[in-house]
Amino acid sequence: MTELKESKSAGGAAVGSRPWPLADELTAPFWDAAAAQRLVVQRCTECALLRFPPSARCSHCHSDGVEWAELSGRATLYSFIIDHRNMIPGFEGAYTVALATPDEVTDDSIRFVTNVPGCPPEDLRIGMPLTVTFEVVHDGVTLPQFVPEAGS
Ligand code: ZN
Repeated sequence: MTELKESKSAGGAAVGSRPWPLADELTAPFWDAAAAQRLVVQRCTECALLRFPPSARCSHCHSDGVEWAELSGRATLYSFIIDHRNMIPGFEGAYTVALATPDEVTDDSIRFVTNVPGCPPEDLRIGMPLTVTFEVVHDGVTLPQFVPEAGS
């Protein structure tokens, strides 16, 4: 399971950056691809089901056979909220928490949780086209995020 690691100095105080994910054996291929600005998800080698977040077995056929499939990075805004509570260190003011459905997925089996950086909340529309961008959130940690597709 992917853990979130808070940004702490040696003394334990937050240093102002947002929390970042901590890769493990299961999720490392996803984070390595993100660092190379590629968006990948697992694909079952038995039934071809795409899955995310990474898991040890296919939820459809229970196979442990897996390969990594690269996605186009295009997605659709499925839903969103604006969090005004600002309870997570490293975030200032209200921020968007959105669900993006990749274009390759037609059965709603995969959605990415994302902020929509650079997009004012009043400009968000359910169904709007999005495209992936890669944000370095910590040294060596790159987080895929989704932003409005150019021209949308
Ligand atoms: Zn399967």
